[in-house]
Amino acid sequence: MRFKFPFLLLLLALTVSSCVSVQVKDNTVTNVSREIKKPKNIILMIGDGMGLSQVSAAIYYKNGKPNFERFSTIGLSKTSSASDLITDSAAGATVFSTGVKTYNGAIGVNNDTIPVPTIVEQLSKRGLATGIVATSSIQHATPASFYAHVKSRRMYEAITEFAPDSGVNFFAGGGLKFFNQRKDGKDLLAKMEAKGYEVITDKLPQKPSEKNELILLAEDGMPKMSEGRGDFLPNATKLALEKLSQNENGFFLMVEGSQIDWGGHDNDADYLIEELLDFDKTLGVALDFAKQNGETLVIVTADHETGGFTLASDGKDYNKIKPRFSTTGHSGTMVPVFAEGPGASLFNGIYESNEIYHKMMALIGK
Ligand SMILES: [Zn+2]
Repeated sequence: MRFKFPFLLLLLALTVSSCVSVQVKDNTVTNVSREIKKPKNIILMIGDGMGLSQVSAAIYYKNGKPNFERFSTIGLSKTSSASDLITDSAAGATVFSTGVKTYNGAIGVNNDTIPVPTIVEQLSKRGLATGIVATSSIQHATPASFYAHVKSRRMYEAITEFAPDSGVNFFAGGGLKFFNQRKDGKDLLAKMEAKGYEVITDKLPQKPSEKNELILLAEDGMPKMSEGRGDFLPNATKLALEKLSQNENGFFLMVEGSQIDWGGHDNDADYLIEELLDFDKTLGVALDFAKQNGETLVIVTADHETGGFTLASDGKDYNKIKPRFSTTGHSGTMVPVFAEGPGASLFNGIYESNEIYHKMMALIGK
């Protein structure tokens, strides 16, 4: 009995229903405790390659207060993969989608290349609506890890074959050519339509469709901000929220600012910062929705840092920032995790990246 009691309280803390809140501290009930409430909806926002210096760029380069500053809960995530000290975006997203640390290059499969059910698949089966929005192609490592299971991130055509039966209610991003200009000659757009999707390839609609939506506005990745992408990411996120929130069982939406990473790989500070500011604007859309909705948890994090980016002094001039990079690859630095809404307090502290999945499932899984 002595040992059972705190354990039961821990279980209770992890399985609270939306109308009950439990007070816990160090796994024991106390008077000075935090409340854990269950969200009905989760918005997971991934800034690919977004380390703390990238986030700091929002402070220095945005006119006005960054949306990052609206979060009350902040944690740090340790990003190593199962195969490498420094993760890539495939293993880095598969930890969020499946809770499993796997090898670099893996999409929705474990270290033995065995498929692992994703959070999107699990919640979709339970009647939640799901959505995926990215500024890359929807077959790129991060979005792909939420609906596909392949042994290598480069298998774009194989990844696309998972889309028709994915159960995802809303896709928006690039990647048209992997549906309709395939080496195997298949027309997967026709298959999407046969599965009940409305396929949209010209521009972002003003209103959500009654049907599931596949919105593909580029052959591969979406254009850069500097090439005129405009408000695609915030507007696609707004559209997704309008659609998914119609589901009374709740929803899960993943939004990726994909090209923060690409600016880092290019060691192009202007590219990185423009993409980061676009992502910050999109956070505002999610936070405004969550604030009004009251039952939505917003989590913002990164899969890893890219570029070894720093906001360094310009020589001895401490009044001038000269952004610098130390690699064209990724770095092993911890990345921030921001959370706001019911259950946000679970995201305090320092933990392994795959814990983010387990925390989300403890809050929204049944
Ligand atoms: Zn990368």
